[in-house]
Amino acid sequence: MDSKNVTINIAHLYPRLLNIYGDWGNVLTVKKRCEWRGIDVNIDAVETGDTIDIKKYDFYFIGGGQDAQQTAVAKELQKHKAALQDAVDENAVFLAICGGYQLLGHYYQPHEGERLEGIGLLDAYTEAGNTRFIGNVTAECDFILPRTLVGFENHSGLTYINGATEPIATVKIGHGNNGKDKTEGARYKNVFGTYLHGSFLPKNPHFADYLISLALHKRYKEEIELISLNDEFETMAHDCLVNKKY
Ligand code: GLN
Repeated sequence: MDSKNVTINIAHLYPRLLNIYGDWGNVLTVKKRCEWRGIDVNIDAVETGDTIDIKKYDFYFIGGGQDAQQTAVAKELQKHKAALQDAVDENAVFLAICGGYQLLGHYYQPHEGERLEGIGLLDAYTEAGNTRFIGNVTAECDFILPRTLVGFENHSGLTYINGATEPIATVKIGHGNNGKDKTEGARYKNVFGTYLHGSFLPKNPHFADYLISLALHKRYKEEIELISLNDEFETMAHDCLVNKKY
């Protein structure tokens, strides 16, 4: 099947609360890279109080945010924990950035206040550290080509991953999950978490296409070839950040 006359349905989780550093640019990137290929995209914003029909969605996105916004979203996510775990079992794609990533683990313990319970889509936990990691990141991912991933991090949370959850990349420049074990991000099945803001996907079009392919496979249960796009500008943006420290 080619990529004409196919659709991807996206649930953008809590964009009013978790959209720090314009993380919604990731949703825009998926939308445009699909539309440039003739793939229809439907995007629903899911806000506090909304229901989530997991039968509808192929792709879920949740952005980053400050501790206060995370507290509100953490409470909401608990209502959808079982349904979203079912979505993971049905190979739906999740992309979670920073604060959203932290909430897909078991918990996030901020510097002050209560521990925020996560929904455990990733076997990971996060505890606030004493240093805020701020700066450019270059990391190497072994399941896509080109292997480099670039972005910008700003977090005090230190994330540790366990079990069947694996990192998405190895840090070359920057701190990543915790500044100690050289891991960046986390993956379990088609759930991807990363600390890379930027937004992440516009400067990593190869990763965007990887996620689009997974979402199409989840919906149509077969490989759907993505036609190549002219990524001249995306590649320039990517390459100028590779190994950039400041
Ligand atoms: N509040 C979280 C932290 O500081 C997440 C920040 C973010 O999403 N950029 O680690």
